Amino acid sequence: MAWIKKQKLKFEVQERQSERRFVSGESHYYKGKRYLLNVIYHNDAPKVEICNKTYIDLYVRVGSTNEQREKVLTEWYRKRLKGQIPALIDKWQKIIGVEVKDWGIKKMKTKWGTCTIASNRIWLNLELSKKPEHCLEYIIVHEMIHLIERNHSDRFVAYMNKFMPQWHLYKEELNRSMLSHEIWSY
Ligand SMILES: [Zn+2]
Repeated sequence: MAWIKKQKLKFEVQERQSERRFVSGESHYYKGKRYLLNVIYHNDAPKVEICNKTYIDLYVRVGSTNEQREKVLTEWYRKRLKGQIPALIDKWQKIIGVEVKDWGIKKMKTKWGTCTIASNRIWLNLELSKKPEHCLEYIIVHEMIHLIERNHSDRFVAYMNKFMPQWHLYKEELNRSMLSHEIWSY
């Protein structure tokens, strides 16, 4: 049973990491849930819609390239993630008692989040749009705690334990979804 579970997980991770062509039938994740991509060709501005809680409908112009389809979907993820973040930062500013002066979304290869302590700014990985919201929230809290404690010290861990006692689970969840040879940090 353990072996089957392990193989299944390996397959799922591989599937998620495999080369994307942005064609109908591919699996794409949003907020931790798997959707099937449905490419629809039309002669209007490109758009993305979630349909029946099952499909991500990607509307593009006839003759669109892989890169164009990827760009439309990426911008949709960015817009959705942008919409999620302010309420979470607001909530945690009050709880932690630290002000985030600015925040941004970046494509990052090996980091879920990062921060600039001097300017109270945090950066979040665009990939977090594909993860459950509690994972995004965990990274936001982690980066915000860095604004009061630079290092991953005992003091840092004590803050995490105090504000988000279940943070270990979220960390594990994020790590689980990545290939083992990739080193993710934040
Ligand atoms: Zn950190």
